[in-house]
Amino acid sequence: MKNIYIIGVGLIGGSLAIDIKKNDPEMVIHGISRKQTTLDEALSLNLIDKKATFEDIDKADLVIISIPVDATVKLLPTILDKISDSGLVVDAGSTKLDICKVVENHPKRRNFLAMHPIAGTEHSGPSAAMSGLFKGKTNIVCEVEKTAFKLQEKALKLFADVGMRMRYMNPEAHDKHIAYMSHLSHISSFMLGKTVIEKEKNERDIFDMAGSGFASTVRLAKSSPEMWTPIFKQNKENVIETLAEYIENLSQFKELMEKDDFEAVYNEMKNTNHIKQILNGIA
Ligand code: NAP
Repeated sequence: MKNIYIIGVGLIGGSLAIDIKKNDPEMVIHGISRKQTTLDEALSLNLIDKKATFEDIDKADLVIISIPVDATVKLLPTILDKISDSGLVVDAGSTKLDICKVVENHPKRRNFLAMHPIAGTEHSGPSAAMSGLFKGKTNIVCEVEKTAFKLQEKALKLFADVGMRMRYMNPEAHDKHIAYMSHLSHISSFMLGKTVIEKEKNERDIFDMAGSGFASTVRLAKSSPEMWTPIFKQNKENVIETLAEYIENLSQFKELMEKDDFEAVYNEMKNTNHIKQILNGIA
């Protein structure tokens, strides 16, 4: 693999570019984006070697799509149309079912591999890209059996070389589990931020009193709405299900407080402390 084309050189695409180039300086990283200013920024930050356009995709050994998931669903079939027989297209989208469905009958389905690298921060755009983002993190790979073996091997090695361990899952299971593990945390953080902002109109007070608890819980509320709205739209049913369960837990907690049942309040928290063992080594 020599020519890698990255469509969307923001946090995910840019961070992959840095580590792929670090691992193999011979690779030529081409960037494609909607806005020329974004490509210029990616070039000046040395994330990419060259600017490119969709017309160049037939020269790609590997195309990495790292743009919002609604844009991926729209663009993926035409990108697959353009890829050469020996080229591979992978995507990094945070949802997998709609993306896999849109190409299920594409004549070049074997030239596509669906992935979700579970790594990120609340920042976006080329300036958010960083080395080491994927080290020790999980890459969820979907429908691996639908990708030509030689092509999947190359991509899996590339992702393993940036430090990721692979986990295989079908797209339905991915979208269901990720609604709990990622999408709900983002909504909860956004709505925590909203609740506090509405109450504390004087932002200076929030800033002065924001201990590490508030700051760390609300961190994800800095994330990009452009990226998250299409994720919630594509995973609407699973997200609504997780929200209903979460709201039920919040309501029960409130009821326990109203009933002065602080023994039960204590037990709710004590039982949830078990999360320490589950997350040991992750956070
Ligand atoms: P990002 O930093 O905002 O970068 C996305 C890039 O996509 C931007 O540089 C933007 O370039 C381009 N873009 C935005 N809207 C577009 C559109 N409608 N059509 C074409 N290009 C568009 O986002 P990211 O965090 O890297 O996320 C990229 C993908 O990775 C998403 O599918 C996301 O679900 C997935 N992902 C994100 C995370 C995370 O934590 N952030 C983790 C794992 C996977 P222009 O300025 O040129 O528009």
